[in-house]
Order: sequence, then C-alpha cells, then structure tokens
Amino acid sequence: MKKLFFSIIFLLFATCLLAQEQQKEFPKPKHMQPGHTEFWQPQPAVVTPGDGHSAPSDAIVLFDGSGLDEWTGPKGAAPGWKVEGGVVTVVPGTGEIQTKRVFGDFQLHIEWREPVGLTGESQDRGNSGVYLQGLYEIQVLDSYDNPTYVSGSAGSIYKQHAPLVNAMRPQGEWNVYDIIFEAPTFKKDGTFRTYPHVTVLHNGVLIQNHTEILGTTEYVGFPKQREHGDGPIILQDHGNPVSFRNIWIREL
Ligand code: MG
Repeated sequence: MKKLFFSIIFLLFATCLLAQEQQKEFPKPKHMQPGHTEFWQPQPAVVTPGDGHSAPSDAIVLFDGSGLDEWTGPKGAAPGWKVEGGVVTVVPGTGEIQTKRVFGDFQLHIEWREPVGLTGESQDRGNSGVYLQGLYEIQVLDSYDNPTYVSGSAGSIYKQHAPLVNAMRPQGEWNVYDIIFEAPTFKKDGTFRTYPHVTVLHNGVLIQNHTEILGTTEYVGFPKQREHGDGPIILQDHGNPVSFRNIWIREL
C-alpha cells in the first residue's frame, strides 16, 4: 500500500516537471528575409566581351594577325611560320612555336583551319596540336570524314580521351577551340596531387567536359607525371600547313 502511494506521488511529480518543461519558452527561428542571402561584395570586375572571335578586354592577345611577338620558335629562335592576311600558318620543318609567357589555369581561345586539298588519311591529314603548359596536347587534325583512332582525332586529349562528338568543319573553313584548363598540383614525389582537368568546346559544341588529364600525351607509351610549374602554349609542327588566327588567353 505504502509502495503504491509513493509511486503515485512520484508519477504526479514527474508529470508536473514535464508540464513545466513544456511551458518553457524557447527562442523561435526568425523568418528568413531575401536580404539574408544577397551578397554585394566583391562586385565582379567589368570585362568588355569580344564578338566571339576577338579578345575580351581582360585577355592577353597572343596573336591578332599582326605578328608573332608573343612567340618563339624552337630553342628561343625566331618563329619560322608564315604570317599573312591576319593568319599564321605552319611552315613544315621549321618546328613548333611556343608562347614566351607561361600560364597556370586559363581560358584559351584559338581558331584553326585545314587547307583545302589535303589528301592524306588518318593521322597524316592536317595534323597539328595545342599543347597546354607545353605538355598536354589537344589534337588538331582534319577529322572531317577522316576516321582515325578516336583518342587521336580532333579535340582528343592525345592518346587519352576521345572527344564526346565530332564537331569538325570541312577543309577551308575555320574551326574554333575554347579551352578551359585547370593546372595540376603535385605531391612531394612529383606525381599529381590533383590532376589537371580540361573542358573544350569545338565550334561551340562541348567535346571535353572537365576531363581528367592522366599525364603527358605521349606518342609511344603511357602518360607520364612529373612536377612542373606554369608552362607555355605550344603549337605543333606536324608537317602540315595548318593555319591559326585569333589566339587569346585569360588567366584564371
Ligand atoms: Mg598533333
């Protein structure tokens, strides 16, 4: 009987405590206002855009048709390529040309054209290339109705990743690459801590979508990883008179 009495008392006490707790006023969450998610600073820098071909106001112009002041040939020699009519064309056998400046992360615009009348096949038709940081080749090739190994066709990361689609224009027409590149970072042993990535639009069509670059783009053998800093843009002399124009770059 005594036990029951104390149990009832305890229950009453516990109920009172609970009721008291429920009456306690806690702060209520404030209603969100639109201004809570509106940031005003820093304002983006103002850039005057180009017309899709010419450079935006904050770009470094690498070639606008007026000369190759931004470029060198092999081993620092003067470039051997021909500049005429606002266009620079590979003179086969004179070697690659490379920018004097070096770059890390960037957005690169470059236009290129295959000459009319090329008759070779596969890799022997209009071969050149755009090397990012001097090491990672985005293939330039006359891939219009010209089957080759897909990891070597126009817009491929050479011998690593085929383009998503073939957006090639025929000989005599201008092609456009818009390339966004994220440079690698390195571990102490010289291998990638974060891999380089590249996004490529070919004539406005996405062909590489934040693609991971596995290492250097070797003709023979697997990609290699070795530590490096910023590097130049190199345009390849592969023995074909490919032309280029409107080359500009924005450092990111
Ligand atoms: Mg090539």
